[in-house]
Amino acid sequence: MSRRDGVWKDECGVVGVWNHPQASRMAYLSLYAIQHRGQESAGIVTLEQGGHRIQKGLGLVAEVFDDTTLDQLKGRAGIGHVRYSTTGMNQMANAQPLQASLSNGPVAIAHNGNIVNANVIREELKAQGSIFQGTNDTECILHLIARHPSPNLVECLQQSLAKLQGAYSLTVLSHEALFAIRDPQGFRPLVIGKIPTAEGAAWVVASETCAFDLIGAQFVREVEPGEIWWVDAQGEHSVRIPRQAARSSCVFEHVYFARPDSIVFGQSVYESRKKAGRILAREFVKSGVADCDVVIPVPDSGVPAALGFAEEAKRPFELGIIRNHYIGRTFIQPHQAIRDFGVKIKLNPQSAVLSGRRVVVIDDSLVRGTTSKKIISLVRQAGAREVHLRIAAPPTIGPCYYGVDTPEKSQLIAATHSLEQIRDFVGADTLEFLSLNGLMEAVRGEKGGYCAACFDGRYPTPLFGLDEQPKGNVRGLE
Ligand code: AMP
Repeated sequence: MSRRDGVWKDECGVVGVWNHPQASRMAYLSLYAIQHRGQESAGIVTLEQGGHRIQKGLGLVAEVFDDTTLDQLKGRAGIGHVRYSTTGMNQMANAQPLQASLSNGPVAIAHNGNIVNANVIREELKAQGSIFQGTNDTECILHLIARHPSPNLVECLQQSLAKLQGAYSLTVLSHEALFAIRDPQGFRPLVIGKIPTAEGAAWVVASETCAFDLIGAQFVREVEPGEIWWVDAQGEHSVRIPRQAARSSCVFEHVYFARPDSIVFGQSVYESRKKAGRILAREFVKSGVADCDVVIPVPDSGVPAALGFAEEAKRPFELGIIRNHYIGRTFIQPHQAIRDFGVKIKLNPQSAVLSGRRVVVIDDSLVRGTTSKKIISLVRQAGAREVHLRIAAPPTIGPCYYGVDTPEKSQLIAATHSLEQIRDFVGADTLEFLSLNGLMEAVRGEKGGYCAACFDGRYPTPLFGLDEQPKGNVRGLE
C-alpha cells in the first residue's frame, strides 16, 4: 500500500489455537498478552463443524469481547488479531481477521507486517475483476488464494505468497487446519507453542512468547523465515515458500516494539535491552555522565536499558519519573490549559529523586524528539541541575515500510538535524545515541540477520514507490 492510502503503518499482533476445548478463550488471552502490538481493533475467528464464527470490533481486546461473545465463538480452533493504525483508516473493513468463502472452503487470515508490493498486486487483481472491501494489504493475499486454480490450499498459499515482497507473519484458519506462516526474510516474529491437555496436545501460535506464558503453553520454536507450518487432524506439517531471501528480522522489535518478557528471534528482549544500556554506558561513560548522581529511565520502555546503563556506569538507578498505568485512550481534558498536561497525565517526574541532581535520562529510542523535549523540561522543573539524555538505539533516520509505525522522514528529527541541533531542540545538557554496531552487539543472538533500515536507511527489499514523499499534510516538528 502506498503511504497516501495511509495503510502501511499498521502495527499488529496475531495468534492461533488448534485442538483446545476453550479455543476462543485461549485466543482472547493470547491477544490480551500482545495488546501492546495494536490497540485499535481486535478480532477472533473460530472453526466449528467446518464453518467459521467471527467476532471483531474497534477497541481494545477487553472492549471487543465479553463472556457472551466468547461463548458464541464455539469450536476447538481459532485465530485472532490486534491492530493499530495511525492514519485515520480505522474502519471496520480493515479490522482482522479477514474471512472469505473460497472454492477450497472458508479461509480466515490474520496478518502482522506490511507487504511492500501490495499496490502493484492490488492493481493487477483489480484489473482482473477482484473487488476490494478495505484498504489493507492483507486482502491481496485472500484474493491471490481465491484466484489460484489448485484445490489444494497449501499449494495456493505457496504460490500466492511467493509473489509477495515485504513483511508478513500470518495465522490462517481453513475448514481443516491452522497455518502459521512467515515471509522469507522473517521480518516479524511468530512462534509455535504447545499446551498439554487431557485430550492430547493443543497447539498455539503467537507473535510473541509472552502470550504462551499467560496461557500456560510451552514454547516449541519460532516459525522459520519462509516456512508454511500447519497442523490438522493428521498432525503438524511444514513446507517452504518458493522464494529465497536473506534473513532481515526487525531490530526495532528488540529496541521498542516487543514486550521485554518475550523471546524474540531466539533472544530475550529484556536481556538485549539491558545489554544495549550497558554498551551505551561503555561507549559514552567519559562524556559527561561518569560522575552523574542518578540514572533514571523513561518508563516503561527505557527501564531495562537504564538498569544496564546504571550497572555498567556504577551509578545509582532510581525511578525519577513515575508512570500512570491507568490512562485509557481518551480522558476528559481540563477546561483551562494546564501546562504540559498531555505528558504529565502519563509521566510525572519526582523532585525527591531529581532535585539538585545531575541526572542521566535513558530512553529506548528517539523518533520525533517531541516526547524527550517534554520529559526533559519536566525533569528540569522537578529541580534537576543537569540533564544528560542517552538513547539506547541509534538515531531514527528512516521510516519503516515493514510494519512499525515510524513517521515519514520529514518528521524524523535525526533525518534532518545534527546531533547538536537535536540536543538543542530537546533541551538536554548532553545527548548521545547508541552506535549501530553497539545495537547489533546487543541483539546478536543465535540467528542474526537483522533489518535496521530505520537506523541505517538500508532497506532489504525494493520499495515500489513507498518512499516517494507525500504531498501536503506533513506535520513539522512541534
Ligand atoms: P518521539 O521522539 O517524541 O517521537 O517519541 C519517541 C518515543 O516514542 C520513544 O522513546 C519510544 O518509547 C516511543 N516510540 C518509538 N517508536 C514508536 C512507535 N512505533 N509507536 C509508538 N511509540 C513509539
